Amino acid sequence: MNNQLTDSLGREFPYIRLSLTDICNFSCSYCLPDGYQCESNKEFLSIKEIKNLITAFAELGVWKIRLTGGEPTIRKDFLSIIKTIKSIQGIRQIAMTTNGYKLKQRVKSWVSAGLTHLNISVDSLDPKLFHSLTGHNRLQEILEGINLAQQLPIKRIKLNAVLLKNVNSHQFHQYETLLKNNRISMRFIELMQTGDNQKYFDQYHVPANELKTHLLSNGWTEKLKEVGSGPAIEYIHPDYNGSFGVIAPYAKDFCDSCNRLRVSSTGDFHLCLFGEHGFSVRHLLQSENQKAELKQTLCQLLGRKRKQHFLHDGNSGGTPNLASVGG
Ligand code: SAM
Ligand code: SF4
Repeated sequence: MNNQLTDSLGREFPYIRLSLTDICNFSCSYCLPDGYQCESNKEFLSIKEIKNLITAFAELGVWKIRLTGGEPTIRKDFLSIIKTIKSIQGIRQIAMTTNGYKLKQRVKSWVSAGLTHLNISVDSLDPKLFHSLTGHNRLQEILEGINLAQQLPIKRIKLNAVLLKNVNSHQFHQYETLLKNNRISMRFIELMQTGDNQKYFDQYHVPANELKTHLLSNGWTEKLKEVGSGPAIEYIHPDYNGSFGVIAPYAKDFCDSCNRLRVSSTGDFHLCLFGEHGFSVRHLLQSENQKAELKQTLCQLLGRKRKQHFLHDGNSGGTPNLASVGG
């Protein structure tokens, strides 16, 4: 289908990141260091609202949905959400990003319901460091969940780690061992500045170039990008089943390959993770009859998408932390 979500720079958006909640049970040091703080009683998008939203996006040409948060699996209706999205014509991929705390118990049912792609955050393979970074001593059970997921008919498993100076930035070898025999993509994300983490950012940000240099000098080579792939750069090695991925939002031209738009858990349409604010479309999700107006509104709003973020100027927009909009 023709993608009607194309911006003035010719960038196409086949991919929506939908946040299901901003609540999280973990307290990652770079995201929610004091844990989730409940400021008001929010009502998150219902299944019916999600169905109306994704149906409109699918008719505009979107075929990939990533469920994220906060921690998306905290939602009691998470399985029904997957099933609902799976039933929408045109959606070919349903991905999720999770901290993995329910992986071992639930991954089988998620995959049976229609989940096709899975990202799990694993900031360290050292149990003590994992505990201190996330507030949870759960590395072992998360790794067991990942093992289980590998036996299921899931298309792609990626692990995410935020690259942190002198914390995990010297632990690449541990991940290399994991990638030797596992067909997993290990993605390092350069730490991004958000409204809440300025001091932390100053202390722990390290450019992803250090990792790239390590990979290139150890026999890893950059893989040619597939058409429509996002901003991540992938590295492969003949002796390894797995691959490394590097997401470097501070790299020049990072935004040129932007292929994603976001919707927050309360129905705000975000053109960029680091924009000033989102645009509420929730009032247009109440009935199937509003679909035409919803589609028109989404296309009009896309016209406001800027060429790039302004992180280089220390401007992270209105995002206090990534859990709030959906990372
Ligand atoms: N709770 C889920 C998880 O942690 O996978 C999903 C939401 S989380 C906000 C999505 C991703 O954003 C995670 O991989 C997390 O490591 C990453 N993230 C959060 N804050 C970040 C920051 N300041 N810079 C870079 N990545 C960040
Ligand atoms: Fe929770 Fe994910 Fe943020 Fe960690 S990164 S605090 S798991 S939302």
